[in-house]
Amino acid sequence: MGIFSSRGKRHLDGHKDLTHHDDFIDIRGSVKNIYIPIVLPNRKEIELMVKEGDSVKVGTRIGTRNDFYVPIYSPISGVVKGTVSRFDAINGRPVNHLVIENDFEYTREECALRTVNLDNSQEEIFAAIKEAGLVGLGGAGFPTYIKYGKPVGIHSLLVNAVECEPYLTTDYHAIKNDAEYLLKGAQLLVKALGADQAIIAFKVHKEDMKDKILGLLPNYENVKIVEVPDAYPMGWERTLVRQVFKKEYNALPSEVGVVVNNAQTVISLGHALLDGEPLHHRLVTVSGDGIVNPNNVICPIYTPANEVIEACGGYVDADINLIPGGPMCGKAVVKDEFALVPQMGALTVLKAVKYEQQACLRCGECTMNCPSGLQPVEIQIAVKKGDVERMLALKAKSCVECGMCSYVCPSHIDVVENMRKAKLQIRVKETKDALAKKQQEAKEASSTSSK
Ligand code: SF4
Ligand code: SF4
Repeated sequence: MGIFSSRGKRHLDGHKDLTHHDDFIDIRGSVKNIYIPIVLPNRKEIELMVKEGDSVKVGTRIGTRNDFYVPIYSPISGVVKGTVSRFDAINGRPVNHLVIENDFEYTREECALRTVNLDNSQEEIFAAIKEAGLVGLGGAGFPTYIKYGKPVGIHSLLVNAVECEPYLTTDYHAIKNDAEYLLKGAQLLVKALGADQAIIAFKVHKEDMKDKILGLLPNYENVKIVEVPDAYPMGWERTLVRQVFKKEYNALPSEVGVVVNNAQTVISLGHALLDGEPLHHRLVTVSGDGIVNPNNVICPIYTPANEVIEACGGYVDADINLIPGGPMCGKAVVKDEFALVPQMGALTVLKAVKYEQQACLRCGECTMNCPSGLQPVEIQIAVKKGDVERMLALKAKSCVECGMCSYVCPSHIDVVENMRKAKLQIRVKETKDALAKKQQEAKEASSTSSK
């Protein structure tokens, strides 16, 4: 275990050296089919604009999310083969996927997106951000354009390049390889926000990445860099805003004049806005002691995870834990054929280690280390009792599922899983309460009208 740095933050063994090298594996020439999940976790379906037998190019619009407006573009050229039910890691169950067969030509749509530059108005840049269809590539998958919709009083764009999860190195490599688009993208986003500056935050000791950015910075007067301590969860929005601006907020960083975006999201927006190219491929870190050749893999988005794993030599053993994302925030899945959706930048494969779970010692380590200032030990007692009021009083909804409480627990209790259960129980109760309120209102309205 690492060195204690301060309450709610810890230096962790990053294992980043496993994939720090530049010797990536590119599988764009071998991925035969891609699978686009067409059912979202909220059970809403993507509205498709293509059907079986249609030809598509890289950048062909194949559908739109209709809970939020998020257009979806094909990352390959080829033929639509129809739909098939497959396991989806985000939904945690099988859902329908659109299948596109690769013709390996990678023919591109001309002008897939409308381009903009710094001469365009704030509104025009926002419209282009919305049309790019990007979601946060740091893991959250939240539609990016929403942060740029009605910016009021925003002074800074904070570009999050901290990548504090162990094993992950895609932000680091993406910035090194595409620093110019990071800076150009940041400049456009600053204009879209009507802000004064962009600040790129990354961890100390990333000298080669830092030199790359510093070499370009003289051409970007409203972009700055800041180095932050090598601690977990420094990349969490709230911790990072606190570190850089010394400010606290309730729900969103915009309350203190800040919008935060992940570095790869900014790079991809740079390509979308300046070159008219929607996101079609990305780097995925495949790392951990359970994979034969840890590496970064370049693949079309929506590539099946098992193909990326095979490209890295497969598993060292049958008994492994496969985690989409990093080991702290990610949750192990039991199947590996799920599609790598845009926000999935990592697969962590760890040898299964069996820990005997012990009774809670009431040692308080989880509380001491929670960056949200919660009392996980008390929340899990409330979960066991099914006491939702107590969970609410203990602010369980503020848990960001960073995994720190499980990491520090000497009894090997899966504390974060209990936090997820608390949030689920609260959601269920809130839904039931809202439904009961609606029914009561309908009853009152009908009794009033019948009088
Ligand atoms: S997972 Fe939640 S409760 Fe646990 S340390 Fe992180 S924020 Fe706190
Ligand atoms: S860290 Fe583990 S053992 Fe200690 S109080 Fe929290 S849940 Fe209990």
